[in-house]
Order: sequence, then structure tokens, then C-alpha cells
Amino acid sequence: MKVPFVDLKLQYSGIKSEVRVAMDEVLDNTAYILGKPVANFESAFAEKHDVKFCSGVSSGTDGNHLVLWALGVGQGDEVIIPADTFIATAWGATLCGATPVFVDVDAESYNLDAKAVARAVTPKTKAIVAVHLYGQATDLEKINSELRILNYELKSQGVYVHKTTGQVIYLVEDCAQSHLAEYKGKKVGGLAAAASFSFYPGKNLGAYGEGGAVCTNDEELGKKFKMMREHGSHQKYLHLMYGHNYRMEGLQGAVLGVKLNHLEKWTAGRRQAAEWYGKYLGDCDGVVLPKEMKGNKHVYHLFVVRVKNENGKNRESLMKYLGEKDVASGLHYPVPLHLQPCFEHLGYKRGDLPVTEDLADNCLSLPMFPELTEEQVKYVCECVKEFFV
Ligand SMILES: *Cc1c(COP(=O)(O)O)cnc(C)c1O
Repeated sequence: MKVPFVDLKLQYSGIKSEVRVAMDEVLDNTAYILGKPVANFESAFAEKHDVKFCSGVSSGTDGNHLVLWALGVGQGDEVIIPADTFIATAWGATLCGATPVFVDVDAESYNLDAKAVARAVTPKTKAIVAVHLYGQATDLEKINSELRILNYELKSQGVYVHKTTGQVIYLVEDCAQSHLAEYKGKKVGGLAAAASFSFYPGKNLGAYGEGGAVCTNDEELGKKFKMMREHGSHQKYLHLMYGHNYRMEGLQGAVLGVKLNHLEKWTAGRRQAAEWYGKYLGDCDGVVLPKEMKGNKHVYHLFVVRVKNENGKNRESLMKYLGEKDVASGLHYPVPLHLQPCFEHLGYKRGDLPVTEDLADNCLSLPMFPELTEEQVKYVCECVKEFFV
């Protein structure tokens, strides 16, 4: 048996005719940028995530930037970011001219450690980016409690104001891996001041090219997103504010509109695959399985196990062994952000963020996609168990 890491061809074969009709419509109307398919997708996506305003953008990376830029993050500001994430989370801050402040993650959820966040807050902190890593929501209430202890008061959704100094801190979400994930019964994407999503082809909801979205429940901010993604303009050749070309393409809006109708089913497929992993790998002593935290609905963008690294059986040798058995696997993320060469000037060193570093050294992502069959998962698990005997 051969088990790929993801199988986008298989997914496409199931929706080919629908997608082709939607793409043809865009081509017939020559509506290549924004337009009706994008607008329709934006409202449907917002509705599915129980959030009021959604703007389609050119990528998740651009969404990460737009969210912080529109909130006024700039030079001299600090943005708190988990060190265990994809680099794009940090570009949001650096493109604004702000300094990313990397903090450690929680050893069970792999998301921001609220106490570490509290320790990193300074009078320069302007934003905190909660990445819902691998498809599981960050415990935002814990961060909320920590900010309150530090004398920051919740003024409106995700907006904290210091009681004496008036300093404002925005809590925002990076939902690039967590479409339809839930936190205490609520969908991610509308839980903080603003959120960004990615529609990179391999994400839980993937375009056929680049794509992303930014969401908020704040009307003013929602309007700002629409203007800033289009050169700071709502009327051609009149520019009310700084902006950029962060528009979503019509073809991507059309594809995403079709695919959104399948997302619940695909999410259920991922959760089913995760359940099978639990069933067939739960008794394997060599690895720690991902844990769905209480109150969360995990959407398993990735299925990441932590190799215990005992008796000389480490992550690298497991990866090699699986490869020989035709089981694909991946690393997310082998070099944590605080140890990336591009951030060397910030002065972090190995040992600063021990949980993140341990995960970077010992995590392995097993195949995960909605169409995985029980036989495939069983085979993967048998191979993993074989390796450890
Ligand atoms: C994929 C991803 C991004 C970037 O999205 P793109 O659409 O590829 O630009 C940002 N943050 C996280 C956590 C991601 O996984």
C-alpha cells in the first residue's frame, strides 16, 4: 500500500464538473479580479464562521500583514507570536515594521502558552497573534485572564486597554490551518479583534492558486480591510489611506465558493481519520498523539505526533522507515521562528523556548486528508508500531 501525505488529485476528481462550471463563468464574464464570485464567497465564508465581515485577499501571508497594518501596528511596536508556526505569521509583524516577540507554546495543545504571553507583554506590545496550529483553537480565555491580571481591560472584542496608561493591545487570530475549528462552541475567525485565513492549495479549504481572507466583527475595520486590500481606495483613483494590491482573483473566488459547500464533509473526514489514528496508534508507546483540548473542535489540518526519542528511535529514523514503506510524512516545523537565520539580529538562542525546540526536534506529521480510508490509516499505524518494536 502507498499512502500519500495529501491527495489533491483525488479531491479534484470528486468536484471537477462543479469547479469547471464555476471557472467557466468567470472566464465568460472576464471578471478576473474580485467581482461577484469573490463577493459571494466572502459572504458565504463569513456566515460559515459566524463572523460579520470578510474580505478575500491574495494569500494568507498578505492577510497576516493586512490585519496588523489595518490595526495600526507599526515601527517601534512589538507583536507577540508563537515560535512554533509557519514563518508567514511573523511576516505580518515585520512588514508593518514592528518587532516580532517569539514566545513558547503549551506542551499539550502546541498553541500559545498564556503565561509565556503574559511574561512577554511590555509597554510596547501592540498585538498578540494566536495561531490555531494544526487546526486546534488557542485557549483565548486563558490569554484574556492573563491580560486582566496585568491590568488590561477588555474594551471590545479582542481589544485590550491598559487601565492607567491607556496602551492598547489587539488580540488577533491566524486561522490559516483552522477553517471551521471551534472553541467553546464558537467558530474561530470571529473570536478576537480580527482574523486571517489562508487558502493555499494544501490548506483545509484550498484555492487553485494563492488566496486568503481577513475577517472581523468590527464594521469600521471591515471597511478598512476592503479599502486597504485595494490601494486604500473605494473609488477609482482616490486613495483615502495607504494600501496595497491584496485583491483575491475571480477564479479563486469561484473555486472557493464551490469548495466551501464541501468543507463540513471534508472536515468530518479529517476528524474521522484522526479517530482512526487514535484507535490504531493509541497503544503505541513510542509516540504522543495530538490531544483535542476540552471545549475544542480540532479540524486536523495536520496530524502531528511527537516521537518520544527513546532507545535510539528518533524522528528521523521513523521518517526514513515510513518512507521505505511508502508512507509519506512531513516536518512542521523543523526550525522554530526564534532560531531562523533571518531573525538572528533579535538575539534569541537555543534553549530560550524549550517546548517549541523540543517539538521542532521530535514532531512528525503523518498523512492527513479528508479522503483517507480506514485501511490506509491502519497501514500507517502498523508501520509506525513495527518501527518501535
Ligand atoms: C499557510 C500559513 C500561512 C500563510 O498562508 P499563505 O496563503 O501560504 O500565504 C500563514 N500562517 C500559517 C500558520 C500558515 O499555516
